[in-house]
Amino acid sequence: MSLTVFSHADCLAHQPPDGHPERPERLEAALRGIDQIDRIDQHEAGEASREQLALAHGPNYLDNLDSLDQAGTRIALDADTHLGPGSVRAAKLAAGAICQAVEHCLLGDKQRGFAVIRPPGHHAEPAQAMGFCLYSTVAIAALHAVKAHSLKRVAVVDFDVHHGNGTEAVLAGAPGTLFISSHQSPLYPGTGRPEDPQADNVINASLPPESGSNEFRELWLEHLLPAIDAYRPELIIVSAGFDAHYLDPLAQLRLKDEDYYWIGEQLVKLANQHCQGRLAASLEGGYDLKGLENSVLAFGEALV
Ligand SMILES: [Zn+2]
Repeated sequence: MSLTVFSHADCLAHQPPDGHPERPERLEAALRGIDQIDRIDQHEAGEASREQLALAHGPNYLDNLDSLDQAGTRIALDADTHLGPGSVRAAKLAAGAICQAVEHCLLGDKQRGFAVIRPPGHHAEPAQAMGFCLYSTVAIAALHAVKAHSLKRVAVVDFDVHHGNGTEAVLAGAPGTLFISSHQSPLYPGTGRPEDPQADNVINASLPPESGSNEFRELWLEHLLPAIDAYRPELIIVSAGFDAHYLDPLAQLRLKDEDYYWIGEQLVKLANQHCQGRLAASLEGGYDLKGLENSVLAFGEALV
């Protein structure tokens, strides 16, 4: 099987201030990982439409970002989320890329897509940019699959080291979706306590700092993979963040490259079992360049 990658060079133009961990070099590192995989189809991503963005965000929020963009403003939207010339385009391409990856899985004869883009999306809330994220990309793609393709069971799986608070906020209670996240706790953004999900279609699981391969795999094998299996998804969308890697500077989990191959393999198994192999992933975090390159390579290998 080949893996179709959706990306765009304009995702490099989003430039947070010097020293910011979510920097353009991340995308280059991720694409170096992709380049080492055989059987890759590369596609140029296009921007998400206003209609797609509006699946997760209100008109005031979208208008505000557009007018800041048109004014060429350089502004901090929160303590660590920056917007400047090129940022809105990069974020619209990121949201568009995962929507295209979903389209590709649902309509094409090839079942695997990977949006290799930046900025990430899973912290963006309906009316608030947050945690390096402007648009709630993966939630948008899930709601697009429900609305445009009448899917009844879309599983959104998030193994980024941070809780996908934005994805949860958008998808909580949304018919046709299930959101499953594993993340380090305590850690930014402080949400995602397993005992109080915002709705019945949300499953949060946390790992304490210094957890490694064994704890991660056990959590997925015992709790999260069986929940996906029981849901019988028609499509799996993955928030693929690689910042639980032991080299990552933003968190304290100890995953290795091969753990990302393992989780990819497990998710592919479920996709083959329930949804003709249909799986679309989107790059979220991962802030050590070598760790990111190797993790993207390992995860991508599992998808082909
Ligand atoms: Zn993260």
